[in-house]
Formats: sequence, C-alpha cells, structure tokens
Amino acid sequence: MIDQVVILLGPPGSGKGTQARRLSADLGVPHVATGEMFRSNVEDDTELGRRARGFMESGRLVPDELVTEMLFVRVAAEDCSCGYVLDGFPRTLGQAEALDRGIEGRWGASVASLEVPDAALVERASGRLLCRNDGNHIYHASFSPPASEGICDQCGGELYRREDDVPEVVAARLGVYREQTAPVLEHYAQAGHLLGVNGDQAPDEVYRTLRAALEGESRENSALEGSTTEGGE
Ligand code: AMP
Repeated sequence: MIDQVVILLGPPGSGKGTQARRLSADLGVPHVATGEMFRSNVEDDTELGRRARGFMESGRLVPDELVTEMLFVRVAAEDCSCGYVLDGFPRTLGQAEALDRGIEGRWGASVASLEVPDAALVERASGRLLCRNDGNHIYHASFSPPASEGICDQCGGELYRREDDVPEVVAARLGVYREQTAPVLEHYAQAGHLLGVNGDQAPDEVYRTLRAALEGESRENSALEGSTTEGGE
C-alpha cells in the first residue's frame, strides 16, 4: 500500500491516462482523472458538466474553483484513504498550491512528468480512439488500429474520438499546457521532487521507466529518513 499521492503530469497525448490506469491497478489505489470526471458530468448533463463543457470543447481549462472542489470531494472518499494516482490534476499553479495545502502533513507526493516531443503529441492525440464500454481499451487509428473499424477488439464496444482530440483543439490544449501547466512543473522541480520520464517510447517501456523512477525516489526517501533518525539518536 502506498499511503501516498502519485501525480502524473504530461501534455495531452503523452499517454498519462494509460500509464496512470496501469499504475493505479498495480498499486491498488484509485485512478483519479479530472478530465474523465468532467466528461462523465458532460455526458450526464449535470450542472457541473454544463459549466465545464464550453471550456473543454475549446481546449481551455475549466476554472480552478470548479476543478478543485470536484477533486477534493472525490479524494475524500473512503477508497482514496490509502492513496491515489492523480491524472490531469494539478494543471495550474493555483491548483498545485491548493493540493499542497490539502495533503500537507498527511501525505507525501511523488510527481512524475511524461516528456514527449510536440510533433508526436498532436499525431498521438489526433488519432486516439476510445471504447465507450471501458476507458482502459484505447486504440490509435494509425499506430494500433482495431481489427474491425470502429469496434473494440477486447469487448466489441463502440469506438469514438474525443471531441477535443481534433488537431486544432489538440494544438490549443498543448498551448494551454505550455503556458498554464509549465509553472506547475517548475513548482515541483523547485521543491526537489519532479521525476522526468521519457514518454517517447513504447507504453511498456514508459511504464518500466516510470516505476523505476518512483521506486528510486522512495528508496532515496527511506535512506534519508534512516539517516535523519540515526543522526538524532
Ligand atoms: P483530459 O482528459 O485530462 O485531457 O482533460 C480534458 C479537459 O478537461 C481539459 O482540456 C480541460 O478542459 C478539462 N480539465 C481536466 N482536468 C482539468 C484541470 N485539472 N483543470 C482545468 N481543466 C481541466
């Protein structure tokens, strides 16, 4: 059990959803993805979904107060009591500071950033196909197409493209990431715990690199705690 929050950062199309799902399954803690929470609110036509929709369709960020409130309600649930993997949050400095305050004194945070060159990102996001039945079933029109067009190989579900995965909106989301999320990376880098992970590799390889980085950090922290305790005795 991790008793820790893992924060996965990365631009749109960097594969953070895929990696976060796998990590959460292996660590046995929930995958908390703010984008998915918003999409399900839009689909259910809730008040929150109606307020978020326009921002999402144009690739802009939903205002901080809506996101943080939704997030803190989610992570207060019992299933998050041993930790959780955050995917898509925090995306602004304000969100990062709210998260710092929310977890202070209770949780440690590990922060990993998936790094992928811009040209690959637009291509990846623009070809992405998702299964309506199961968000874990993800395809790519060119790199990993399904056997039958529009149908999930694993469960027969209908495949669809996210409305914000069209090239113009992907480009806008990338711009937002560079402008508004770059300070978040800087924030964690300055605090000394940002793990850079090469996301420009096959998914299994990215996952191995990510796990190795997280385990290396946790070994370092235990060694540090050990030396602090020894020093104090
Ligand atoms: P994602 O699935 O993470 O790419 O998120 C899809 C869209 O949901 C984003 O383009 C934003 O409009 C919105 N969104 C998700 N997470 C956040 C967040 N932490 N802050 C603001 N907007 C968000």
